[in-house]
Amino acid sequence: MTQNSKKIIFLIISLPEDWTQAGLQFLIILIELMIIQTHFSNYLQEQQCESCQSMELKDYTGVFHIHTIMSDGTGNIFDVVEAGHRAGVDFIIITDHNTISYRTEGFDGWYGKLLVLVGQEITPKLNHLVAMGLDELVEIEDHDDIESHIRKVSELGGLGIAVHPHHHPHYRRRFWKFIAVPWDNWNRPEIGGVELWSYMADWVHPINYFNPISMIYYIIRPDRAIEGPSLSIVNEWDAITQKRRMPALGGVDAHARRDPLGMFCVFPYEFIFKTIRTHIIAPEFTGLLKEDEKIVLEAFREGHCYISYDWLHDARGFMFECLSANDRWIMGDELEFSEGLELNATLPVRAHIRLIQDGKTIMEKERERLEFRVQKPGVYRIEARINGRPWLYSNPIYIR
Ligand SMILES: [Zn+2]
Ligand SMILES: [Zn+2]
Repeated sequence: MTQNSKKIIFLIISLPEDWTQAGLQFLIILIELMIIQTHFSNYLQEQQCESCQSMELKDYTGVFHIHTIMSDGTGNIFDVVEAGHRAGVDFIIITDHNTISYRTEGFDGWYGKLLVLVGQEITPKLNHLVAMGLDELVEIEDHDDIESHIRKVSELGGLGIAVHPHHHPHYRRRFWKFIAVPWDNWNRPEIGGVELWSYMADWVHPINYFNPISMIYYIIRPDRAIEGPSLSIVNEWDAITQKRRMPALGGVDAHARRDPLGMFCVFPYEFIFKTIRTHIIAPEFTGLLKEDEKIVLEAFREGHCYISYDWLHDARGFMFECLSANDRWIMGDELEFSEGLELNATLPVRAHIRLIQDGKTIMEKERERLEFRVQKPGVYRIEARINGRPWLYSNPIYIR
């Protein structure tokens, strides 16, 4: 008990001898209450500041790019929610083609410990763009006008992510191959990020459409088809990040397609939710849909996220950061070069870590941790492999 509160109790229980004394006592109590109130609010503020400073960033695991029965997927909202629970992820992002019905009908939100967000995959003939954070549907006005939908998402304040990008100049649709729908040019400032690694785009890559054995083999052993993001896309991403920040995400393009008799499913939601995930490094969720959607989108916008093929190993706990004597920056951040900067990468498991600067590997090690003293400005990022298999891609730290 504080000295002030002891005094108050004493004053209240000692009865006044006359009304002048009573008035005086009342005045003293009032002053003391004001002192306590001021002291208490200062104490509260101090407590809040302390909690701000020690606010821990979380690693939330998410699955981006999911189709449901609202477009060409086969599961409804409850199927994907159940799959999300079973796969043990923290959030999922439904991105049906040209519709946000699940959002307008209020199906986005918290389902137990799973946050369900709804965006839209704007789907013209080329240049598929996932728009997030919008309550308004972005209609395609002209399939040949590639600027219009990109511009509209940006004007409305949404986050546009270029999904399954390929180089259009080199793109030829070979009729014996599945090839993901490409982009003409995703190097545009209005685009808020790129789906660097898409599970379905990666999986279909080695498959020969007219060779049923090849297809059956990769359906039974899908992991064998996974080779990592297309090198040309990674190279283009590295070139773009030399000039400006370009956050990268991983997606699955889940459809849970079924055969015509409905006997087989390629690939069930639960399975694919355990493959390529985007982890965000973000403040703790609040339990409120709008607030938590902002947290996820802010992490995407800032590149405070990394991509991992969690089928090989859950990457939760990975961190890539830059430290100075007094400051700390994490993946996605941009800072000015100064003497004494150190880059640290920490993995939850031993892996082959590569530190990449401006697209070139400058250090590689087989271990759980990598440290590097920064000698010059550059765009630094991490790649990691497990048993020679592609596993993790961080967003860069931009030291200018
Ligand atoms: Zn698409
Ligand atoms: Zn899609």
